Amino acid sequence: MITKTFQESGLAFQSPEVISARRNEIFLHHVAYLAARSPFYQHKFAKEKIDIRDIKTIDDLPGLPLTDKADLAGAADEFLCVPPEQVVDFCLTSGTTGAPVPLQQTAADLQRLAFNEEISFRGAGIASGDRVLIAVALDRCFMAGLAYFLGLLRIGALAIRGGSGSLPVLAELARRYRPTAIIGVPTLLLRLAERLAGSGNDPTAMGVKRLICIGEPVRDRGLALSALGDRLANLWQASLYGTYASTEMATSFSDCCAGRGGHVPAELVAVEILDDKGRPLPAGEAGEVVATPFQVTGMPLLRFRTGDIAVFHEDPCPCGRRTPRLGPVLGRLSQMLKVRGTTFFPQSIFSVLEEVEEVRGYYLEVFDEFDLSDRVRVVVGATDGTLDAKALGDRLAASLRVRPEVLVLPPEEVQLKTHSAEKRKPMTFFDYRRQTLSGR
Ligand SMILES: [Zn+2]
Repeated sequence: MITKTFQESGLAFQSPEVISARRNEIFLHHVAYLAARSPFYQHKFAKEKIDIRDIKTIDDLPGLPLTDKADLAGAADEFLCVPPEQVVDFCLTSGTTGAPVPLQQTAADLQRLAFNEEISFRGAGIASGDRVLIAVALDRCFMAGLAYFLGLLRIGALAIRGGSGSLPVLAELARRYRPTAIIGVPTLLLRLAERLAGSGNDPTAMGVKRLICIGEPVRDRGLALSALGDRLANLWQASLYGTYASTEMATSFSDCCAGRGGHVPAELVAVEILDDKGRPLPAGEAGEVVATPFQVTGMPLLRFRTGDIAVFHEDPCPCGRRTPRLGPVLGRLSQMLKVRGTTFFPQSIFSVLEEVEEVRGYYLEVFDEFDLSDRVRVVVGATDGTLDAKALGDRLAASLRVRPEVLVLPPEEVQLKTHSAEKRKPMTFFDYRRQTLSGR
């Protein structure tokens, strides 16, 4: 019986030969573990006539079956590979589509998360002696806040558990305990800076050197800071580090100090980028991120389709790590918009809106127009008379090559629609299409 649990190895600075040999070993162990322990994959392998003895190296990964959110939602317990008494924690998936699914974790899985965040933090220059404000939920069965806390514990930095629920609490913690770094969703970090400035505390003078940004991209496809990223960096006079993760992957990809995309933790995950027919795409091309998280013992997955669109980067990173990187998330497959033959993601619209100083909040509504074409309405908040809807429409049309409807409302009205105490991030996308592409 396979009993090996999580092992850390610090592969990032090893030679390509060492990384490749170790990854093969970890991958083969992963497949053997699934075949020995996972009811879901035992059935899947039998059904698809996969004999794991034919699998020799990690290059055989693309021949194995894909797993999607529907598989998990339909048979979550079938994925569990340990006796239930070994489960010490579960994280609920964010439930982007459908009901949340509990991702059950063992103690070794929590160590794995901690190691992942430790190497991410070290890549961002965080060390013992840093004071880090976690402006992310640690409760309600979220994974991210827990993982950050465990990672900081391994580094020996001070974790200030602010949570994401209360701006006044965060402002007071920042003012009183002077964090050297803050982790949070970019829009929350923007509002925090504004709140501090509004109460006479200059955010640029508070000693915050680093912002770790989750949930919303702060870089564009070319890896330069986006308008939102730029604004944040200026407001805080701090360095920005983007990070991408999801509960099901149980893995995060984080910018190093070079800011060239999120490094792939080589011992923890294999990443593939696939086109809309499920075929592998070369580095540099945008496609769906498919992740095989390694060394998970509770509910390990094989080739999990994240539904996120991103680009893989294999060129050397100036930081010296030998691991490839994943660019920012460009959009979600299910949110792809199709307007008169042109396809794009809501993020393309958001990026333009974030460049416009007068915009105070925004959201997007999508309706069916006719077959294979969507009607897109951009609703922006702006103080009366400060924003010209037609000029904004021109600006969007220049960037998208199609013209969406633009509606300007008072900022309070927009905020009512986008903010909810239940949600970690503002809701900016409302899909009223009868049939979306998510079921693909
Ligand atoms: Zn790097």
